[in-house]
Amino acid sequence: MIDKFNRKINYLRVSVTDRCNLRCVYCMPEQGIVHKQPADILSFEQIYKIVKAAIGLGIEKVRITGGEPLVRKDLPLLIRKLRVIDGLKEICLTTNGIYLSEYAADLKSAGLDRINVSLDSLNSSRFQEITRGGSLDAVLKGIDTALAEGLSALKINVVLLKDFNSDEVLDFASLTKTKPLQVRFIEYMPTATNYFSYDKSFFSAQTAKTICSSLGELAPVDSRKIEAARIFRIKGFWGTVGFISPISQPFCASCNKLRLTSDGRLRVCLHSAKTVNLREAVEVSEEKTASLIREAVFLKPHSHNLREKDNLDEFGFEKDNFSMCQIGG
Ligand code: SAM
Ligand code: SF4
Repeated sequence: MIDKFNRKINYLRVSVTDRCNLRCVYCMPEQGIVHKQPADILSFEQIYKIVKAAIGLGIEKVRITGGEPLVRKDLPLLIRKLRVIDGLKEICLTTNGIYLSEYAADLKSAGLDRINVSLDSLNSSRFQEITRGGSLDAVLKGIDTALAEGLSALKINVVLLKDFNSDEVLDFASLTKTKPLQVRFIEYMPTATNYFSYDKSFFSAQTAKTICSSLGELAPVDSRKIEAARIFRIKGFWGTVGFISPISQPFCASCNKLRLTSDGRLRVCLHSAKTVNLREAVEVSEEKTASLIREAVFLKPHSHNLREKDNLDEFGFEKDNFSMCQIGG
């Protein structure tokens, strides 16, 4: 699928739930969000039909996300179901890692290719603070179990927050010395959940890169894929580090993504309120679903407007206030 701006759209992110076992301060309000009714959440069968239609149109990579996807207890069944769709080249999962040690073996045997674990601090009391009570040990155990199960090429996503974890950049980068991980530093994006003052907390990926270079020369890694991250290997290290700059260096010109929300709406840009509802179509036919997916691709905007303050509401967001947990990042 090629959109109006000549971008090839081949990546679908699928949120399987709007629920989560953590309450990360920048993602979810303390009291949680108003959840969708269980009847409104797509069944695995409905997700399968939508993904199949999307793959028929040229989607090659699928990422399962949430909320926290592993709160859907039978998630490996979904992975197994999607894995056999002809044309699907890669299936990945983004998780907070809390339940990962329990699920890693089943996920691997179901056919999962890769895992991204979100982890914003290597200090347990800070980790508890940012997740409102999560256990760092559980996440570290999950990462080690996933690596032991052969889910290598595991990525750790760190949201950069000045005065919160910016002093941990070297600790995170050092993890790549002895483990085959990719640690990716991601710029904090404004959403409706403005726990950290945006202006005071923004910390650029470029600054993180400069800090990492004190560990050794950063050699670019050519992944040959369209990646939001700029990836490097620190000289002599096993793993790699990546830098994702949605704010300071937006990558909209090469954006290849669509996002399916847990209630069946296709969101055309993370930062745009435009959605196309696939719920009814999926019960009608694959053709109807495919035609709505094409419509969504046509609606994809040229770029997000996060830096154009005039277009933003008081939270710095384009009219549609959302929590990241409702879309899946
Ligand atoms: N629960 C899973 C997890 O935490 O990995 C998947 C869903 S979570 C919403 C997906 C990603 O969005 C996480 O890596 C999280 O750190 C990121 N995220 C949430 N709010 C963000 C924000 N305001 N700016 C940048 N990334 C954010
Ligand atoms: Fe849950 Fe992930 Fe949001 Fe944290 S970032 S509250 S783990 S959905």
